[in-house]
Amino acid sequence: MGFEDVHQRRVASFPYDIRFAHTKSSNHRSELLASDHCGCFYCCKTFSPHEIIEWIDDIGEVGQTALCP
Ligand SMILES: [Zn+2]
Repeated sequence: MGFEDVHQRRVASFPYDIRFAHTKSSNHRSELLASDHCGCFYCCKTFSPHEIIEWIDDIGEVGQTALCP
């Protein structure tokens, strides 16, 4: 089984609110910057979107997905 299958199964086992948050876990720049706080799936910390330094998934000049600060 490849990473994508394992990942999809794992995500499917999460509660609804976590799965909803997961749909916002990439290509989220404008939504994130409009929020007061956000959280990292990897280290489980929360922080202000203004603390984000690095963005990836560039469309044009602007990255759409935050990297955890
Ligand atoms: Zn993190």
